[in-house]
Amino acid sequence: MTDGTSPKDELQEAAQPVRRGVLVCGVVQGVGFRPTVYRLATEEGLAGFIGNDTDGVTIEIEGRLARVEAFLARLRDEAPPLSRIDSIVVSEAAVTGETGFRIVASEVLGRVSTGIPADAATCPDCLRELLDPNDRRYRYPFLNCTNCGPRFTITRRIPYDRPQTSMARFPMCPACQAEYDDPLNRRFHAQPNACWDCGPRVSLVGAEGAEITVDDPVTAAIDRLLAGEIMAIKGIGGFHLSVDATNEDAVMRLRQRKHRYGKPLAVMVRDLAAARKLCDLTAEEEALLLTPARPIVLARMREDNGIAADVAPGLPWLGVYLPYAPLQHLLFADERVRALVMTSANLSEEPIAIDNEEARMRLGGIADGFLMHDREILQRCDDSVMAVVDGGPQLVRRARGFVPLGAELPLDAPPLLAMGGHLKNVFALARGRRVYQSQHLGDLENLTGLEFFKESLDHLMRTFEIEPQTVVHDLHPGYLSTEWAKEWARERGLGVIAVQHHHAHVAGCMAEHGLQKPVIGLSLDGTGYGTDGKIWGGEVLICRLDGFERFAHLEYVPMPGSTAAIREPWRMAMGHLHAAGFDVASTEVLSLVGAKENEVRVLKRMMERGVNSPQTSSLGRLFDAAAAVVLGRRVVDYEAQAAIEMEGIAVDQPDEEAAYSMQLIEGDWAAREPVRICAEPIWRGLIEDLRVGMSTPRIAARFHVAVAEGFVQAAVRARTATRIGQVAMSGGCMHNRRLARLLRVGLEAEGFEVFQHAQVSPGDGGLSYGQAAVAAAILAKRN
Ligand SMILES: [Zn+2]
Ligand SMILES: [Zn+2]
Ligand SMILES: [Zn+2]
Repeated sequence: MTDGTSPKDELQEAAQPVRRGVLVCGVVQGVGFRPTVYRLATEEGLAGFIGNDTDGVTIEIEGRLARVEAFLARLRDEAPPLSRIDSIVVSEAAVTGETGFRIVASEVLGRVSTGIPADAATCPDCLRELLDPNDRRYRYPFLNCTNCGPRFTITRRIPYDRPQTSMARFPMCPACQAEYDDPLNRRFHAQPNACWDCGPRVSLVGAEGAEITVDDPVTAAIDRLLAGEIMAIKGIGGFHLSVDATNEDAVMRLRQRKHRYGKPLAVMVRDLAAARKLCDLTAEEEALLLTPARPIVLARMREDNGIAADVAPGLPWLGVYLPYAPLQHLLFADERVRALVMTSANLSEEPIAIDNEEARMRLGGIADGFLMHDREILQRCDDSVMAVVDGGPQLVRRARGFVPLGAELPLDAPPLLAMGGHLKNVFALARGRRVYQSQHLGDLENLTGLEFFKESLDHLMRTFEIEPQTVVHDLHPGYLSTEWAKEWARERGLGVIAVQHHHAHVAGCMAEHGLQKPVIGLSLDGTGYGTDGKIWGGEVLICRLDGFERFAHLEYVPMPGSTAAIREPWRMAMGHLHAAGFDVASTEVLSLVGAKENEVRVLKRMMERGVNSPQTSSLGRLFDAAAAVVLGRRVVDYEAQAAIEMEGIAVDQPDEEAAYSMQLIEGDWAAREPVRICAEPIWRGLIEDLRVGMSTPRIAARFHVAVAEGFVQAAVRARTATRIGQVAMSGGCMHNRRLARLLRVGLEAEGFEVFQHAQVSPGDGGLSYGQAAVAAAILAKRN
């Protein structure tokens, strides 16, 4: 032996105990990590301890080297299902000679554990117990374990321990306590652990608010649903309004009472097999349906699937999802229940109702009865919505199951609050490389919305112990949220940074992919306030994280009637056709958009004089205008409806060569004068096709090709001017699957490297993440 050791020495060395410190970061608290580690350490015959730490869990293990190595390998391979390991850092430690493995309380490490896991769908083990007549939790609507159950929505403050949750008022019975205390039990430290003897109860309540005594409230609720009644059912993040999705009358009545006419309703079904009967699901969509977040997945509807036509009127997609709470599983355990409409119990874009009293008051005029329970919901959280776009998962609405999981930034941020947008608000708190986005809060136009915002901000600040030093808000001076942000910052003496809407969109996509060098950003969107005071939304930006230049934009057109033109797409059609040189008072245009002569005369005068007709470069508005002309969509019931229908009608159309085109009007990059992308040729082609009687699906498909091609050509010019070959795409229009695919394919054919959102929404729900990235870059530069 050249190094002086003999095989005997080596053997002796291998038998010598070693000790290692192991720091595991990621989602490792409240997800059954400690019992798993306890089991692995015990099985490998190792001594030591595990405890929760500020950044994750700290483990120390002691034993023979081979066993320690086996333990470390198994730690990754056998981590519990809801955990996510971001990093494992192993360090040497001095051998102490201790025996046995312990789980230590958080305080022993002298640090508070932070973080609350996201709510997770009932796990297979719990589901088996729920339906097993021999189990002590048979049909118990609140069973859960460390691998599943409510988390975020039942927690008041950190640390995530039972006394800080709405389970505090339910002391555990001896059987539950024994499970809770046993490190080898699936319910070890499962904070919401409960059973028939000690936990929350379900009750049936009539429309007028009085409890109805029945043997089994669940079966009674099912009977009422099957009789066509509207039931308000308390879930995990709020109440749902539910009706039998196969009952046309019931669906219609729900719409009338909720004042929600066009917007599609989500449908819950028993399992994947049932979902396949409603929709043609891709493998990616099936995978999304089964994730612990159990989002609503927008998928292609099958013909004659038995679902009432009014559930998703005029659209080829259906929002479908699977039960995620034991109470929901019990509804579907009844063979008679096929599909239930489950829609957030609120009036449109108001916060979802969570409190029993609040529900009685707000839903009394809508629901025929309530299926309630006495476990309080502490954080409102809607269902999340996802879609598979261009082959990848995309967040349409970020809420239950995703909150409060964080996302990474490519650079360090000081503690900051990013306000997000005005509509469909999601705000964010950032510190270091982590950004914690709130749940979907709805619109901040009114005081109810702002109250929900303040309540959620307060909770998230406490949860992550983040005291913002800087507040980031949208550039728009008139938003209620901007006013509030400035005032809040002033009171606390904090710095303020304003970020342009479309810059934030692209910066979000850049940050998600760790891009810090300039990119060509396509920000294709509905509405955002521009640096020139006009309404932007069809933007080609040369983007850095800390700033941008505007390389090209859709040519400005008037929005006659301002925000009224968003609700009434026929006005946008007038704006576009007027800008394209058509006589909007002509009989042909009048009949195209179904407008009356007198209303058009007024509009025309407004546009000519520039009265109440702000200029916009929004791509969303171009889609609205096209939908008004091609589909006769005069008024919309919900945001982006016209654009969604334009995409929907073309769903089965093949792509064809560009039949219409956009005209690029040269700018001067050196003088920072943008290229203008002009839609006039699209209108000429489209109207000609209508004249010759071409089918509307085909026209809609041609329209998509022309729009994509126009922006691809603008990106090519941007590359010529700047030599940048990377394109980041963002904005609400990226929810359009056809447009996203055509853009990506077109850009790749031109040799670009294309980046799209993966974990952050391309819509305004992702805005706060992008704002945080911009602010972090600006602040890093200042220091
Ligand atoms: Zn479970
Ligand atoms: Zn119990
Ligand atoms: Zn936007």
